[in-house]
Amino acid sequence: MERKNAWKGYDEAKSAKVDALAKDYMDFLDNGKTERECVDTIVNQIEAAGYRELPELMKEGKKLSAGDKVYAVWMNKAVVMFRIGTKPMTEGLNILGAHIDSPRLDIKQNPLYEDSDFALLDTHYYGGIKKYQWVTLPLALHGVVAKKDGSIVEINIGENEDDPVFFISDLLIHLSAEQMEKKASKVIEGEALDLIFGSRPLAGEEKEAVKAGVMKLLAEQYGIEEEDFLSAELEVVPAGKAREAGLDRSMVLGYGQDDRVCAFTSLAAMLEIGQTERTACCILVDKEEIGSVGATGMQSRFFENTVAEVLNLVGEYSELNVRRCLAASDMLSSDVSAAFDPSYASAFEKKNAAFFGRGMVFNKFTGARGKSGSNDANAEYVAHIRAIMEESGVAFQTAELGKIDVGGGTIAYILALYGMNVIDCGVAVLSMHAPWEATSKADIYETKCGYVAFLEKACL
Ligand code: MN
Ligand code: MN
Repeated sequence: MERKNAWKGYDEAKSAKVDALAKDYMDFLDNGKTERECVDTIVNQIEAAGYRELPELMKEGKKLSAGDKVYAVWMNKAVVMFRIGTKPMTEGLNILGAHIDSPRLDIKQNPLYEDSDFALLDTHYYGGIKKYQWVTLPLALHGVVAKKDGSIVEINIGENEDDPVFFISDLLIHLSAEQMEKKASKVIEGEALDLIFGSRPLAGEEKEAVKAGVMKLLAEQYGIEEEDFLSAELEVVPAGKAREAGLDRSMVLGYGQDDRVCAFTSLAAMLEIGQTERTACCILVDKEEIGSVGATGMQSRFFENTVAEVLNLVGEYSELNVRRCLAASDMLSSDVSAAFDPSYASAFEKKNAAFFGRGMVFNKFTGARGKSGSNDANAEYVAHIRAIMEESGVAFQTAELGKIDVGGGTIAYILALYGMNVIDCGVAVLSMHAPWEATSKADIYETKCGYVAFLEKACL
């Protein structure tokens, strides 16, 4: 049951489409290195495509009907969009879901200190990372500082060519005999991930002059003082743009592809489809990497509440109809899969692994140690999805997720609680959760096509 490499079926015109989509994808990655930046990027695109914000429509008391496009944002970190179908919503939605948070280093609330004539920022890492991968790289600082007066200062330092970057040091090899004997999980400890932030003392300052120097710059350039770190969300991410990879430019190397590769392709599918029978829906959420918790994670009532509001605007609202709508829905819960890596073949079971270039990945189940924590998709639903993909000429493969994320799996099990059909799927990624992750352009393209086919045809 080996699956074919999708590239083998491409002519020149198709290859050009694959490259064009990958180019848009790389722009998406560059513009959205945090969940907030992702939401901004997405809202700009969908507003240009005629989507309107739900609270506005509620205020106007606008009645929604087939073809209308509506979206809602939650705390600037999660977004859900709907394109109303011709069938009543109580017959179910076709839902695409993915997450837009990625592993990174968060700046602590009291982060700034001076030691040995360096100013440093203390971090707490977010999501599952191999800590040793985050040292000696150019790093950028992205995020917001919320001030007491209610204003928000946006920070983005390290992406422009003439911006400074930041870094975390590592011990030189010459003095590392002891360090090199340690387990990989201990080589760099979490508390050693402190960002080197400056080293130029402020003239005339006696005590902690380097710290005073960086604080002066923050005050001058951003109008923030040290206490403002208390109400900041600052994320340290690899500095620089996503790049084409391979001499044949067949791949994308970039930060945050887990899971923005699925978010981007889901969004692209929503923007591509025309009028569908069922209402098309796409939810892009935060906090998956730490267990889908909190107001902006998939476990939040945000999605359910938004469905209720949209049902209200189409004139179908009742408590029972909300339940009927959700229970009758079909969902593709998208997250990245571990791509087979020939350098680490023993970590995979080759018959049930995902390979670069072999298309969209479906995972009937995820979980570890006896499928624990898994969403195990119903066989009938898998058959329905298979049939749609084959009919639409989408290259796909099936795999075990091989998922090692902190937080116990994807968002699939959460939506499955409504009783709807959910299957895990997505794009295969090499070096998942590393500062620079790799994907195949062919897989990105096929996955986008798979989402379009699903939105247009799924109905079980
Ligand atoms: Mn993920
Ligand atoms: Mn992940």
